[in-house]
Amino acid sequence: MTFQRIKGTFDILPESYTAGGTTFASSTAWQHVESVIREVLTRFGFREIRTPIIEPTELIARGVGGTTDIVQKEMFAFERGDTHYVLRPELTAPVVRAYLEHHLDQKGGTQKLFYIGPCFRAEQPQKGRFRQFHQFGTETIGTDSPAADAETIAAMMTIYRTLGITNTVLRINTLGEASERAAYREALRSFLDPVKDKLSETSRRRLETNPLRILDTKIPQEQELLIGAPTLEDFLGEESVAHYDEVKARLTSLGIDFVKDPRLVRGLDYYTRTAFELESPDLGAQSALAGGGRYDGLAEELGSGKRVPAIGFAAGMERLFLALEAADYTLPAAPNPAIFCIALGEAADRKVFRLVHDLRLAGIHVDMDHGGRSFKAQMREANRAGAAYVLILGDNELEQNIIILKNMETGEQESVAIASLGDHLRTLIPS
Ligand code: AMP
Repeated sequence: MTFQRIKGTFDILPESYTAGGTTFASSTAWQHVESVIREVLTRFGFREIRTPIIEPTELIARGVGGTTDIVQKEMFAFERGDTHYVLRPELTAPVVRAYLEHHLDQKGGTQKLFYIGPCFRAEQPQKGRFRQFHQFGTETIGTDSPAADAETIAAMMTIYRTLGITNTVLRINTLGEASERAAYREALRSFLDPVKDKLSETSRRRLETNPLRILDTKIPQEQELLIGAPTLEDFLGEESVAHYDEVKARLTSLGIDFVKDPRLVRGLDYYTRTAFELESPDLGAQSALAGGGRYDGLAEELGSGKRVPAIGFAAGMERLFLALEAADYTLPAAPNPAIFCIALGEAADRKVFRLVHDLRLAGIHVDMDHGGRSFKAQMREANRAGAAYVLILGDNELEQNIIILKNMETGEQESVAIASLGDHLRTLIPS
């Protein structure tokens, strides 16, 4: 009997591979992309936060919202004793939990945090959609300034631009304050109620629980029913309008193009005011690269006892890799060893084993074969590894305390005294 990975999950291997029509990038590629994300976000003043993968179910139910698909049907939840756990489906609620738990508000100023890590949603797996996937994102907590919204979007866009992804569409909207949205919700409900029999089952359910989500519909008949529907814009107060205008003005001042989309709602319950989504037409059905928005009411929902305005974005790593593929971005391969050591005979093997260790301690990337195989087999291994130099030690060399150094590019070889090997290599190999 053999085992296979769970449906909707994937392994990240030292080299990229293709399975089910998807190319899975190598671990080196992941490290590279993660380092670009960390570097850009650090430059924008964000600092990394790492939170546990398991959280209390109640945090997610409250934080993400009881009417969302995530909470209603996509949670990987389990219990032990009286405690209910969930594998985190996103990181905003966990980050706000950590912010409140560690009283980060008392550190003064705004907290600008970023994260990268796995998330879990029991969705139907398909291209670009997994059950274990990875998100990166930011949370700026403690300010309602529209500058923070524009900065969040600018940081997000810079990551994609740095990685050569330019074929994107940024859509933005405002969801207003909770009270404005509540009034709008009622107006939308009254508008759709007379035609509710023509709605899909999901939309009929949403008409009761969260009618704004119907605006997201992909069903053409439903889109038609929405023609002439009231828009949230008509329900916005002066402050919400001014906030939205300032976000747009700041984006424009940074040269960031966007499309205003009054239908953009996003599937999470906690958003207020600014909401945005970044899409790539190159991605097919799962076109959302990233999304985010303001969530001024979330901390209170999680027991802060006071309003803590905040804004963030969340992006999918797997979608980012799909976009990188579409943009023909060259992902780095794992570095080759500078040196590969070949030993012939048991005594030489012991000596080389020790030598390899010393060179590694001296900071050189060195490898060797194990198992006392033939010269030919070891040479093949050295070629496969792509080493720039090969060191060869046999009985003769061992007796004379020398070793053969071969330049794999030119084919030239020389004998070097083992005692001065370190010094010699330092002149050849950049550290
Ligand atoms: P959300 O938290 O739903 O706003 O998702 C933010 C981003 O995470 C999306 O734009 C996607 O790029 C990514 N994402 C969400 N769910 C999945 C999934 N099941 N598989 C892969 N990526 C996902």
